[in-house]
Amino acid sequence: MSKTDSQRPFHVIIVGASIAGLTLAHCLSSTSIDFTVLEARSDPFSDGAGLTISPNGARILDQLGLYQDVLDQGERMVSHSTWIENGHLLRRVDTRQIRSVRRTHYPLIIISRRALLGILYTRFQRRSCLSFGRRVCRIEPSAKEVTVCSADGSSVSGDLVVGADGVYSTVRTQMWHHINNVDNAFVGLYRLSEVPLTDSFAGVFGTSQSMPSLERGSVHRTYGHGWSTIIMIGKDSKVFWFISIARAGASQAMPHRSSDRACLARVVEPLLEKHIACNVKFGEIFDRTESCMLVPLEESLQTRWSWGRFVGIGDAVHKASMTPNLAEGANCAIESAASLANYLSAFARGSTSSSTQERLDLTLKIWEDSRKRRIKSLFIVSQCAARIEATTSWVLMLLQTFVGLMHETGIGLLTDITSRTARVDYLPLPRRRDAEHDPGNKEEPRGNMQLSTLPLTATVSLMLYVLHALGM
Ligand SMILES: Cc1cc2nc3c(=O)[nH]c(=O)nc-3n(C[C@H](O)[C@H](O)[C@H](O)COP(=O)(O)OP(=O)(O)OC[C@H]3O[C@@H](n4cnc5c(N)ncnc54)[C@H](O)[C@@H]3O)c2cc1C
Repeated sequence: MSKTDSQRPFHVIIVGASIAGLTLAHCLSSTSIDFTVLEARSDPFSDGAGLTISPNGARILDQLGLYQDVLDQGERMVSHSTWIENGHLLRRVDTRQIRSVRRTHYPLIIISRRALLGILYTRFQRRSCLSFGRRVCRIEPSAKEVTVCSADGSSVSGDLVVGADGVYSTVRTQMWHHINNVDNAFVGLYRLSEVPLTDSFAGVFGTSQSMPSLERGSVHRTYGHGWSTIIMIGKDSKVFWFISIARAGASQAMPHRSSDRACLARVVEPLLEKHIACNVKFGEIFDRTESCMLVPLEESLQTRWSWGRFVGIGDAVHKASMTPNLAEGANCAIESAASLANYLSAFARGSTSSSTQERLDLTLKIWEDSRKRRIKSLFIVSQCAARIEATTSWVLMLLQTFVGLMHETGIGLLTDITSRTARVDYLPLPRRRDAEHDPGNKEEPRGNMQLSTLPLTATVSLMLYVLHALGM
């Protein structure tokens, strides 16, 4: 194994012990790379509502030996229904028959964020590498190493700092400070600059007690006038819900962020009488709420994900790609972590003929470019989906209907395993025991994929054209 310039083993400091950070830590555990994880929270178990694990994320969790726990603690999705706000059903899809699910034998899984983080934490063997209650506040890179300082006054030095610290990433901020104020970097005539976060939509996430009329494993998506909802029924019939509200059309000034029940009751008040499934109004779900929070749904795809000894994964660099409308946030964070681990593992095994910093720069740039290609397409689809599902424009409402009717194809394409889907290259691909014809890890050949993406490509092009024409 190659050593760093100073002959120390390569040491990675991961900031954030959530989905991206803990997945990376699991991946690096099977390599010779040293690592430290710093997490601001003092509690390993963080809150949130429900997430979906799709085949692209499931395959990596399977490689890491975590998938059975996900199956045990999650609920297999059986149906996905798309409604319009008057209670009219646009389309019901049997999700077990979706092409990616049938082909890979990884069902779509509904799981609470807390349960997924619990699995990632409790199944992690090298606990001594993990420190909670360590909020990173400053990062000092030098030619030989990077020093990461926490608010409690402690610091740790290593070769690379990975920002897995979410949408308000301190690592990203520190990286851009370095790019602009220390390196004063330009590409041609243009000064490199951080992409600002935008929040055209507010999101309300919640968890409610079960309702007899909502079946386990069912998902209900409703298109409203200026809003959209996704209701997922998980294990023990727990109801996970999400509302996206267009800020532009909102009748009242909405707070930026809140978990105060009275405040949230005012925000969702206009939706209480809206149908979100057959004979179910949103008010019935809200009445059973156990926890909920209002957050801005930030969007931004950063132009740089790495610089010098800094790199970012997950929401820290590709937040918008994953508005919850696409339910790909967790899966993409898992994929980014696995793909970075592949490149770092190859880097650590590589020759030392050139300087460590030069090789590291090149490795990270190649990784970043390859990941961006995959994330960019999801980013565009996600932005379109968020706007179309909550539109008030009649032109986009036509598209809404089209998108609703196309859901089976859309979900199949977005969640499928292709040659571009990341996996852990240095770990074996598990054989799916329930595979009928083939193991679940088989990748869709490019040719077939291109053929089957034609309808989606056409749809997205049309969406983009209309969104552009409307200046949205
Ligand atoms: C509280 C919360 C609830 C959520 N609920 C849902 C949900 O219900 N449904 C859904 O689809 N998505 C939800 N998400 C988003 C979803 O978890 C992410 O989109 C996705 O999983 C990507 O995760 P990530 O690991 O990149 O970032 P995140 O999950 O945001 O994790 C970032 C981690 O970094 C830590 N951190 C931040 N700053 C620092 C710092 N300076 N020093 C050290 N540590 C730091 C945070 O405490 C956090 O643990 C939620 C996110 C959060 C933060």
